Amino acid sequence: MRIVLVGPPGAGKGTQAAFLAKNLAIPHISTGDLFRANISQQTELGKLAKSYMDKGDLVPDEVTIAMAKDRMEQPDAENGFLLDGFPRNVSQAEALDEMLSTEGMKLDAVLDLEVPEDEVVKRIAGRRICRNDSAHVFHVSYKAPKQEGVCDVCGGELYQRDDDSEETVRTRLEVYHTQTEPIIDYYKAQGLVVTIPALGKVEEVTARSMEALAREDA
Ligand SMILES: [Zn+2]
Repeated sequence: MRIVLVGPPGAGKGTQAAFLAKNLAIPHISTGDLFRANISQQTELGKLAKSYMDKGDLVPDEVTIAMAKDRMEQPDAENGFLLDGFPRNVSQAEALDEMLSTEGMKLDAVLDLEVPEDEVVKRIAGRRICRNDSAHVFHVSYKAPKQEGVCDVCGGELYQRDDDSEETVRTRLEVYHTQTEPIIDYYKAQGLVVTIPALGKVEEVTARSMEALAREDA
């Protein structure tokens, strides 16, 4: 199956993508991983991407698209893939369609993880990270430490990352609305969108997604 996963920041997209890819036995292709791999292997595309990033500029769509194309042509993606973070705007979605149709392929489904906006803000803005180890993650409502502001694991000080402040989250949601949401309408016109309520436990959301995909496939 060839699947695109979309959803606002805070919808648990990365976690969900990893679970779904494992269940479906297809590779999880995330833009973040693509950038990291190309840059660390110093590919031509990686060097190009880095030259923009070093200047603080956005990497142009063509570069992202070329990286994604390279990755989708790897043997492990022969039977499908799950894209996460790509396409992120309509022009990337059009480029993806064009790329796939050249190969005589098409997408099977676009999973749209739906989370109420206030819930997204609550999830992200409540996150607290340990200063000693960023893997020690807590949440003021969902996973509160025994003692406020103190890490249960190592006793380190818990803090809120700048990226997680309510203001930053609202800005990221705004970017999502203006740039990424239009791709949902683009794919709706192709009858590909399956909306998945993404509240609840990770396993429950995975189960909902698998059921929806099975229905699509039937
Ligand atoms: Zn800690």
